[in-house]
Amino acid sequence: MISLTPDDALLIADIQNDFLPGGALGIRGGDEILPPLLSYMRRFHTHGLPVFLTRDWHPPHHCSFRTEGGVWPVHCVAGSPGSLPPAIFDAPASAVIIYKAIDADHEAYSAFQDTLLHRHLRAIGVRRLFIGGLATDYCVLNTVKDARALGYAVCLLTDGIRAVNLRPEDGRHAEEEMINLGAVPVHVEMLTA
Ligand code: ZN
Repeated sequence: MISLTPDDALLIADIQNDFLPGGALGIRGGDEILPPLLSYMRRFHTHGLPVFLTRDWHPPHHCSFRTEGGVWPVHCVAGSPGSLPPAIFDAPASAVIIYKAIDADHEAYSAFQDTLLHRHLRAIGVRRLFIGGLATDYCVLNTVKDARALGYAVCLLTDGIRAVNLRPEDGRHAEEEMINLGAVPVHVEMLTA
């Protein structure tokens, strides 16, 4: 079991329509993680702990798009319907939104890359991050790697992640890599109260 402490924060990556089934870059099973992620958000909010949500937020000709020579279909163009979270993903009003990969010439999978997230977390004394969202093998993996490199303890929400799996084992390998880096796998039933 795990008890939440005043040094904890929740960080959920890229819950946006384009990454959910039916979206431009829909991830199989992405909708299945919404109920557990909502439970985590409620727990953190009830404890008065901060919730951070990232959004992939691209200009129309972002370098990651196939039309520009990148690897992904056009997705998460800033402000488009696909860039928004689904209506059922009801985040607390106090949640902090972190926009990433907003520059046309730079890809950013990690929530820490070219954002103020680390500065913000330090300013409010966060030492442990509970990290979930989409996708296990890209934004979650790179966010966890950066978090560990920056000295944060990390709990990986194993019931709150799904992988793209361009190669079938990508998600499993990413989970192993994160756990090898010190991320502690947790699921929502492990949280006390
Ligand atoms: Zn993107």
